[in-house]
Amino acid sequence: MERAKLTYDELLNEADELRYQLEEATDTIEAIRTGQVDALIVQGDSGHQLYTLKTADQTYRMFIEKMNEGAVTLNKEGLILYSNSRFAEMLNMPLEKVIGLSFNIFILPDHKVKFDALIKAAWQAECKEEVDLLSKNNGPVHCLLSCNTLELDEGTALSLILTDLTIQKDTEKQLKLRNEQLAEAQSATEKLNDELEDTVRDRTVDLVISREHFKLLANNIPQMTWTNQPDGQVDFYNSQWYNYTGLDLHAINNSWQLVTHPDDLMLTNEKFDHALQTGEVFEVENRYKRADGTYRWHLNRAVPLRDEAGKILFWVGTATDIEDQKKEIEKKDEFIGIASHELKTPLTSLKGYLQLIGLKKESLPNGVKQYLDKSIGSLNKLQRLVNDLLDVSKIQAGRLEYAMHPVNLTELVRGCTENVRHVYPGYNFENHAEAGLVVNGNEERLEQVLMNLINNAVKYSPVNKNIVIDAAKHNDHIRVSVADNGIGLSAGQKGKIFERFYRVEDKKYMSSGLGMGLYISQEIIKNHHGLIGVDSELGKGSTFYFDLPAI
Ligand code: ADP
Repeated sequence: MERAKLTYDELLNEADELRYQLEEATDTIEAIRTGQVDALIVQGDSGHQLYTLKTADQTYRMFIEKMNEGAVTLNKEGLILYSNSRFAEMLNMPLEKVIGLSFNIFILPDHKVKFDALIKAAWQAECKEEVDLLSKNNGPVHCLLSCNTLELDEGTALSLILTDLTIQKDTEKQLKLRNEQLAEAQSATEKLNDELEDTVRDRTVDLVISREHFKLLANNIPQMTWTNQPDGQVDFYNSQWYNYTGLDLHAINNSWQLVTHPDDLMLTNEKFDHALQTGEVFEVENRYKRADGTYRWHLNRAVPLRDEAGKILFWVGTATDIEDQKKEIEKKDEFIGIASHELKTPLTSLKGYLQLIGLKKESLPNGVKQYLDKSIGSLNKLQRLVNDLLDVSKIQAGRLEYAMHPVNLTELVRGCTENVRHVYPGYNFENHAEAGLVVNGNEERLEQVLMNLINNAVKYSPVNKNIVIDAAKHNDHIRVSVADNGIGLSAGQKGKIFERFYRVEDKKYMSSGLGMGLYISQEIIKNHHGLIGVDSELGKGSTFYFDLPAI
């Protein structure tokens, strides 16, 4: 029967028949794939052919289904008899469309020759080759094809296992990239290392140069210099040190102790230990023995050099010869002593004469009376100045001596407060002294100290004019204090005001004085086995005090 002559019904019937066959084929494939049947009939050149899988038990099929590789069986004509799902996935096609097709059509055209040769060889012996598959819409898939013959009941078939090499290739690519990056990093590290070595070399040269600089500088300044380790050990003296002391070049360490005047050694050691413990600047005046055996005064200073973290690396010290200055000061002290002594006698006579004139005050004209009062006032000031100068020279000569008796401090404070209330009517003085406070001392000298503190409180309190005087017993000592709300002192000034002739250089508050009062007061209190001090804050006021042993 010719096709063209088929009736419409016949065509419908044939279509139904074909649909039925297709469904049957799909079911068969599914049945084979899942292991429900072991055989397949394929229409070949020589009619229908039946294929069964010899070892096709369910376990193996499951195994093949779950494999990560594609698995395919081909007949002699290259038709796909069986495929697992993975192979269909690699082709990006539904599984049922793959079965029965020629494997050849899935090979990249460029690889066809290679593939044909492989298949030909595979029928003879097991072999492998890398080829690219054509995946639908997804471009080529690079695979390793492993071929094996398979004995089926109806004849030999070819089994192909396809391993997707894309990931492996990607990994290789990544690995290559990483290796390149590693090599790059390695070469950068080597470069850095070379640079570092260069820097170290340069720094070493710099260090040597800077050490030589230091030595050159140290050996060419007039002062003696040295450096100490953080623990105080000396590790360098400049050439002046050896020239001056005549010590052996190898006598490093603490050879300075050998040439320090025995009377200055204790103080020097104390100050040096204090500096090492606190990290504060070391400063002391002492005498060093010269090579010819004579001692000369030196001003020693050592400062610590610290790293970024503040740790002391070493100390740099200098000793400056101040023998000539000391001599000059001695001469000046001597002059002050003589001059003040010489001034004292005529001043006393002058005061006597003025007092005599004062006896006849009533008979004097008013204008002269005024001049007389002013003259006596100026003379008192002059006398106080000369007395202070005399005291300073006595202190320098170690001759500030006086008799000691029990002194009623309560009375002393009361008397001084009364006195200053008259002298400074614009100020308000509060007296908080406890009753019955007695010490062993020199009344006149203690009054001199207290008056000096009160006069200073007045002098340095130009605005707030309230001054509090206190005296109280604290355990074994009595403290007398004078508190003002005046200009106050900075921490740096506080440390210096008890020095001889020291005055704070502040033009705004400059007042008369020579900077002797506190120096003399300190010496007097020291002679009383006491202590003088100050608590002060710049701009807020000061409290000067002295402590004396209670009896
Ligand atoms: P003088 O008052 O004659 O200058 P002193 O030895 O009595 O000398 O005082 C030394 C320095 O201490 C003063 O010049 C002043 O700068 C400072 N000083 C003293 N007393 C006070 C005080 N109460 N308030 C602020 N500064 C003071």
